Amino acid sequence: MSSTLPIHAPHCVVGVIGGGQLGRMIALAARRLGVRTVIWTGGLEAPAVECADEVIDLPFDDPEALQDFCGRVTVSTVEFENIPCHTLEKVAKCTGLYPSPHAICICQNREREKNFLKENNIPHTWFAVISDAADLAAAMKNLNGPGVLKTADFGYDGKGQLKLEGDEDPEKIWAAFDAPRAVLEAWVPFEKELSVMAARGADGVTVTYDPAENRHRHHILDVSIVPARVSPAVALEAAAIARRVAEALDYRGILGVEFFLKSDGELLVNEIAPRPHNSGHHTLDACATSQFEQQLRAVIGLPLGSTRLLTPVAMLNLLGDMWPEEMTPPDWLPLFEDGEASLHLYGKRHARGRRKMGHVNFIGPTVEDALARAEAMKKLWLR
Ligand code: AMP
Repeated sequence: MSSTLPIHAPHCVVGVIGGGQLGRMIALAARRLGVRTVIWTGGLEAPAVECADEVIDLPFDDPEALQDFCGRVTVSTVEFENIPCHTLEKVAKCTGLYPSPHAICICQNREREKNFLKENNIPHTWFAVISDAADLAAAMKNLNGPGVLKTADFGYDGKGQLKLEGDEDPEKIWAAFDAPRAVLEAWVPFEKELSVMAARGADGVTVTYDPAENRHRHHILDVSIVPARVSPAVALEAAAIARRVAEALDYRGILGVEFFLKSDGELLVNEIAPRPHNSGHHTLDACATSQFEQQLRAVIGLPLGSTRLLTPVAMLNLLGDMWPEEMTPPDWLPLFEDGEASLHLYGKRHARGRRKMGHVNFIGPTVEDALARAEAMKKLWLR
């Protein structure tokens, strides 16, 4: 190991900004490594709270919370990206924050993200930045076909998005679209959606996981299958693009790059997640190193772990609509009878329609086998 690596482990305290399920799984991975965590979250019902060593339950713009957080942690990271950039910059100054505020602030806003992709010649969908009805009219004219209008800020899981056929009245659309800035993207008739998790360590070494093939339900990830059913050339290209994204961001930590794969084999980057990602949850049971441990390794300054896929796997997201009642979970017995299905629950007490409650990793001899079992279980629970 290089002696220049800033090693903090194993007696360090990692601060995590955000208390959702990703923070929970970072905290669980930290426990195994003997690393302590301080979760900074708004609300003691947050999924990460019961798994963390310490919790700061104050808003992200509270100056006392910032001082308290900085005083307690050795180094820090985020588990979701929608945190004010000025808070991130202050944390970076006092404790070291990985990924950097620069990288997070690019990925938290679609306009900055798209411009980053364009400036770095990373393949992406056609887009135009919209700040008023005149911009939208001009962009729709240029596009001359179907597109998606997306808010620049706070968009995820299809939120703040509107599909346009191209013949709508831009004035009316913009007046009803509740956002100060947006991007209009060309509609991509994709064959598949893929994602690649990449990690870049403190020493700049970059590793990638095998691409996942993703299917959505209500615009939310439903199933991820790994290995993706794509040609070796497409898999290699997706990994190479993810690596370029990590390097161009001078990234440290784990990141998820989401792609559209067109029928001619072309890959276009849709989004970048500057944190562990839902389509990387299979790594908990199917890879040599989980995305959460990898994040800790990168943040702490340890060498990265192997990304090797140990078995074909299908990850099934458990959304609130699988709960027969708000506080009554589905019947888990068939899942435990499966024997090669691992249940991961996020500790959320109340199930609502599209809330992410947990996930299940089905491992198997082939992705087809794993996927068939995942689909059968989903059918049972969605009845
Ligand atoms: P996003 O929040 O940008 O990841 O979008 C959520 C989902 O909407 C994506 O995973 C796609 O299934 C779909 N989608 C978003 N943008 C486009 C696009 N430009 N063309 C086709 N489908 C899209």
